[in-house]
Amino acid sequence: MNLIDTHCHLADRRLGRNIDQVIADAAAAGVRLMISAAANLPDAKIAADIASKHDEVYCTAGVHPHHAAEQGDSYLDDIEKLAACERNVAIGEIGLDYHYDYSPRPRQQEVFAQQLKLAERLDKVIVIHTREAFDDTMAIIRESGVDGAWLVFHSFTGGAGEVREILDIGAMVSFSGIATFKTADDIRAGALIVPEDRILVETDSPYLSPVPVRNARVNQPAHVAHVARCLADLRGVDVEQFAEQTTANAKRFFGIQPA
Ligand SMILES: [Zn+2]
Repeated sequence: MNLIDTHCHLADRRLGRNIDQVIADAAAAGVRLMISAAANLPDAKIAADIASKHDEVYCTAGVHPHHAAEQGDSYLDDIEKLAACERNVAIGEIGLDYHYDYSPRPRQQEVFAQQLKLAERLDKVIVIHTREAFDDTMAIIRESGVDGAWLVFHSFTGGAGEVREILDIGAMVSFSGIATFKTADDIRAGALIVPEDRILVETDSPYLSPVPVRNARVNQPAHVAHVARCLADLRGVDVEQFAEQTTANAKRFFGIQPA
């Protein structure tokens, strides 16, 4: 198999302190590359450091809505510096999260909009996190004027209606272990209508262990193979072929050179 885990959190100590084992386990499962996503600046620094030491790892830089409230005046400059690192492939994860509301919504919206603008200026693709905030997320994206083809909606949890809106603006859709859960019929209905050149797979590890390793306390990039298998079965395509397709999509979207 030839897979890329397009979204994991290697800066999380549960993965980062065992990075060599995590990469070896991934390789054994056919997962050759992984993109370590950042939720805040310390995260982005660690991810960049790991990526600089391991050819299998790329990284992103950005501030998740949970951390919007704690940003001062210089955070955009800091992201810009981190995004200049050779292994950086995207700004993210950025967006809105109205489920937890860890940051006040107006501040979430402001920090999201500022990072969209920054990404556009830096010519970087963007990893979007949206939870219980889909309409506002789309409104801010439209207002920003950012080209939808530069966006991926990560760990997607909406249904077919939302998928159609995302496809309409030209964006990619990435599915995590959530799509494998028994109760996720809605998400799978959405996954079914994504064209083959617009779909990505990820783990969002160390969270969200997929079926059939749902009980694994620490999810890891190797498990993206389970996500791929579930989606390939759903879409009625061969898993090897689905892996090749999603890997080609990820390389094209994130601008990763052929390995
Ligand atoms: Zn994430």
